[in-house]
Amino acid sequence: MTETIYLDANATTPVLPVAARAALHAMECGFGNPSSTHALGLRAKELMERVRERAQVVLGAGSGRLLFVSGATEAIQTAVLSALCNIRDRRQRGETVGRRLVYGATEHKAVPQCLAHWNTVLGLNLELVALPVDSQGQHDLVALRGMVDDCALLCTMAANNETGVVTRLDPIADMLAQGGNRCLWLVDGVQALGKLSLELARRRIDYAAFSGHKLFAPKGIGLLYVRNGAPFTPLMVGGGQEDNLRSGTENLAGIAALGAVLQALEEGQTFRSPAQMAAMRERLAASLRSAFPGLVFNAPLDQTLPTTLNFSVPGRSSKDLLDVFDAAGIRVSAGSACSAAKAAPSHVLEAMGLPAWCAESAVRMSFGALATDAWIDQACARIRKCGAAWDAGARPGVEQVPAPSMATAVPSESGGTLEPSALGEFLQAHPGALLVDVREPVEQRAGGVAELLGQRAQPAPLSELDTHIAPWLVGNQTALVFICRSGARAERAAQYLRQRGHRQAWHLRGGLALQADQAAA
Ligand code: PLP
Repeated sequence: MTETIYLDANATTPVLPVAARAALHAMECGFGNPSSTHALGLRAKELMERVRERAQVVLGAGSGRLLFVSGATEAIQTAVLSALCNIRDRRQRGETVGRRLVYGATEHKAVPQCLAHWNTVLGLNLELVALPVDSQGQHDLVALRGMVDDCALLCTMAANNETGVVTRLDPIADMLAQGGNRCLWLVDGVQALGKLSLELARRRIDYAAFSGHKLFAPKGIGLLYVRNGAPFTPLMVGGGQEDNLRSGTENLAGIAALGAVLQALEEGQTFRSPAQMAAMRERLAASLRSAFPGLVFNAPLDQTLPTTLNFSVPGRSSKDLLDVFDAAGIRVSAGSACSAAKAAPSHVLEAMGLPAWCAESAVRMSFGALATDAWIDQACARIRKCGAAWDAGARPGVEQVPAPSMATAVPSESGGTLEPSALGEFLQAHPGALLVDVREPVEQRAGGVAELLGQRAQPAPLSELDTHIAPWLVGNQTALVFICRSGARAERAAQYLRQRGHRQAWHLRGGLALQADQAAA
């Protein structure tokens, strides 16, 4: 079976084995409640405080406070709520406060959504302003200078999740230091954690948000940095944990795992250095360039995280590219994971003013600091395979099969949905069944069904289905099992066949994606 090449580390990362062991140990042995006063509780508290100390050092937090939270979204909420409550109070005291909430136009959606939400909930009626970026994704500092005096809260990310563009924080810090009104500053440090030195205290950042699952810790653990002296309002109240700043029993397993990752970072043995990662990325970039003539990178590589590539290929949509990479066992995304299910083009690339075709064709490849040269070799070979699959005369997937209307759909007294776990049994019960691969030819060339299922499948791309169906509709109608990447095209094909009178047309729910799970289970 083809081993998966995971190139979507900006969406999330696997848990570092030593971190998983630390979490397991915390759950099985060190499971005390850090608020309990008996020995188990005291040990849990001790572990938590050691992890906090490590994080203080890694982040340059100085005398600032680090709170354990569930992830960056919670950290951002808490920071925004704190800032907005302070702005409200200062206004009520008659102080001069900026009237604008300014956020970088390429921020993760968590930031503008959160600003809009709390602005409404608190009835502040502040103006939300997107700070423009240039074509390289850098904030427009001239525009910022023009608005900084009327700015109550500024939100700028340290590195962008879609393009990897690294923000120049120092000029922003200088501008805020010179500004007349005390403007609060939130930095989303999610993609920078472990990759860039943030020096939070030196830069006088008021709040910074971090998420464990982007750096080999589990989902559900994150950090909020609050500068010593920055205003604070708790988002969660209750049992008074975290010195009354964030109530709720702490996620000790997540904290233990995060601690193991931070220790590995500090010791410097586990993760690749920025220079090593940049060299690895250059090899990926070279194989992309040679596999896809005309390919463009959507952000300058020398201004981006050494682990991220965002590119577009003329004449190819993101979906076409993702389908081919997926067929070759390479997992990438078209943009942020949160927007992956939405069809809208990336707001990040739009804000950079890139041509529409770039946004429509964009693919993000991102890897983590655990990558090895051998693994990069494999990734490059797969990329070349994808390029060769296009070269072999591929056509972009034009899906001509009409979506079946509910009015004409035949009830599935036979045929219908086949559950992922039921395929093996089904094929045994129907020895003559035909597996039909409805993916486009380029996907089939990039990776075959047989590699994954150990079963041969007849190619019949959805866009050409009509040219294949005549023999299937005659005689006693053998069972057909349609297969594609995610199950969506296969479902359309099976419904289409049933509409045409075929009584044994099935589709494999979840497609090849869930079969990979079956194989792994
Ligand atoms: N900010 C950035 C830049 C991100 O990439 C993400 C996650 O994709 C978030 C915030 C939200 O993080 P979390 O999943 O921890 O809530």
